[in-house]
Amino acid sequence: MNAPQVSFVVPLYNESKVFPLLIERLNALMNQTQIRVEMVLVDDGSRDNTAQLMSQLALEDARYQCVFLSRNYGHQLALSAGLSAARATEAVMVIDGDLQDPPELFFDFYDHYKKGYDVVYAIRKKRKEFILKKAAYYLFYRMLKKISYIDIPIDSGDFSLMSRRVVDILNHMPEESRYIRGMRSWVGFKQIGVEYERAERSADESKYSIKMLFRLAFNGIFNFSELPIRFITRMGLIAISLSLVYLAITIIKKAIWGTVPEGFTALLFAIILFSGVQLISLGVIGEYVLRIFHQVKKRPLFIIKDRILNKELVTDNKPKEEL
Ligand code: UDP
Ligand code: MG
Repeated sequence: MNAPQVSFVVPLYNESKVFPLLIERLNALMNQTQIRVEMVLVDDGSRDNTAQLMSQLALEDARYQCVFLSRNYGHQLALSAGLSAARATEAVMVIDGDLQDPPELFFDFYDHYKKGYDVVYAIRKKRKEFILKKAAYYLFYRMLKKISYIDIPIDSGDFSLMSRRVVDILNHMPEESRYIRGMRSWVGFKQIGVEYERAERSADESKYSIKMLFRLAFNGIFNFSELPIRFITRMGLIAISLSLVYLAITIIKKAIWGTVPEGFTALLFAIILFSGVQLISLGVIGEYVLRIFHQVKKRPLFIIKDRILNKELVTDNKPKEEL
């Protein structure tokens, strides 16, 4: 097979219920176009039979490439594994396995790519999800945009088409806590958003736990914003100013009336205030230190157990050196 022009990267975690529908849609898409497409399916350590389904398929159909991770690493790392395995010469399309991101939007994205855009990302116009979750997403993206030092588009996830060179850059960014939609914005080049309506999951339920969503949100904030640490500095300054004002008032009172405030309520209040400031400061510094801690370890981001390439199973236990 000639090198594919476009790779689709699809991370899958316990998606056996969705799998047949997904493959049906992907096959239909490939049959519909002249563009040479490869499908990179990444098994993120599924506990159901997703991995078996994947290998059955890819051992028969060379258009499918499979990457099996050694355990569950989470969506962002599964995506990273897929991005580094993608062999496309032109562009890589990232979609979710549950068909919430219609793969057919590819044709639209690809047109934009042909017009010279390096990144074409999807903007969710409507979300069909539980109202609280929707509200949380809504607030989070707006907050992140306000506090971030780069321009991360609102309401857009990882669903996007990226040119070969952008993918190469992402593959060479070794940061451990990965927030790919942020890294993608950070890379720059010409980027454009395309609106779409996010569908419901075609089967089963979300594989993202609340804990994982929070972790993702934290990675977004602490990897792309300096505001938390600046905020602490500001709080510190305000606290010091307040205490100086308090000191001045006390001195003036003493000079004019010769009385000093009695009792220790004020003192106690000040102690609590400053302890609070210190504690929060420590917490935020800790957040950054934690990231430094992870980064300096320079661990491989993931270890691929084995993969299927050209209908052949390749076992590879060496960590990826590139990353
Ligand atoms: N996913 C993954 N590893 C995980 C969790 C999720 O690879 O640990 C995949 C999942 O199979 C799906 C995509 O990431 O293809 C998005 O997950 P999901 O649809 O559960 O998230 P949501 O759409 O609810 O945010
Ligand atoms: Mg989903």
